[in-house]
Amino acid sequence: MTEITNKKNILDLSLEELENLVQELGDKKFRAVQVFGWLAKGTEDFDAMNNVPAGLRKSLAENCYIGMPEAVLSQHSSSDGTVKCLYEFADGARVEAVFMKYSYGNSICISSQAGCRMGCKFCASTMDGLHRSLTRGEMLGEVLRMKKLTGENINHVVIMGMGEPFDNYQEVSGFIRLINSPKGVNLSMRNITVSTCGIVPVIGQFAHDFPQVNLAVSLHAPNDDIRRRTMPVANAYGYDELMQACKEYTRITHRRITFEYALIRGVNDSKENADELASNLKGWLTHVNLIPLNEVKGRDFRTSEGKNVLEFKNRLESKGIAVTVRRTLGSDIDAACGQLRASNGNGGHR
Ligand code: SAH
Repeated sequence: MTEITNKKNILDLSLEELENLVQELGDKKFRAVQVFGWLAKGTEDFDAMNNVPAGLRKSLAENCYIGMPEAVLSQHSSSDGTVKCLYEFADGARVEAVFMKYSYGNSICISSQAGCRMGCKFCASTMDGLHRSLTRGEMLGEVLRMKKLTGENINHVVIMGMGEPFDNYQEVSGFIRLINSPKGVNLSMRNITVSTCGIVPVIGQFAHDFPQVNLAVSLHAPNDDIRRRTMPVANAYGYDELMQACKEYTRITHRRITFEYALIRGVNDSKENADELASNLKGWLTHVNLIPLNEVKGRDFRTSEGKNVLEFKNRLESKGIAVTVRRTLGSDIDAACGQLRASNGNGGHR
């Protein structure tokens, strides 16, 4: 462990940074492309990089480690192929990631932080606060580990697991660039989705930095009063301000924005709530993703009844709003939204 802390996680390095390192270690720049390619394949041992000279492999191992998380627990849903993993990093930080199969491809939902400090009252990930943010390379490690574990390709990455990506924006943007890197995993920007609880200043920044990456905003309410009841972030950034930032996002990127709306019985699921939401969203490029609340142990909120879900959806649709009800995958293994919580421990650490 002490040895590891003096070394750097080589997965944190961009190709350019790796080129500099390789040159500092006395080798040719092009070797970095080879090493970068091996890392993107999930190689965990420098000695397995058999087209890289032994001397460079040795000096890389002296200076760096390959910081993939260990999968300390993995659960496979019997019904739909969903795999949930509890990962542990070298310092003991724990996060979860979920692999899901859809008709359009395989998707992984990764965590951006161990724990979360946003405090949404219906969400399990935030119950023990924030332990620490993850680095770009650790997020990449979540994807690489899942690929190895499932033996499957991954077509989409959604940053919707534990944590608030816009509370760790620098590393999240570093991760997007890393995984998009043509000599690395080479995942298209359009196959990446970031979900935020609504940190307004970062939404603007994100629109400029990553106009091709999909944005989802956790709205969960038709107005400030209701939003404040469940999401403390609404006290920092009001509803109007959030709507303005989202409109600005679509103006800059010309991309459809997704609003997530967890239906909570008696809190935000009435006809009036649907009408108010529809009038807020009227006339701009959006998509509403209704998620019947996944009930979390230790939280009071209950999920909406099936007929209310349908009624809510129909009301939005009748007012011209694009809406889907999210299929719940992996709920038999607590892998559904808001149920991710580094279990057997106090959220995010041993
Ligand atoms: N912090 C980010 C991403 C993580 S949460 C965000 O807030 O968007 C991913 C999604 O799951 C968010 O829309 C979140 O509000 C939602 N969610 C959290 N708890 C939930 C629950 N118990 N049931 C349904 N959705 C939930």
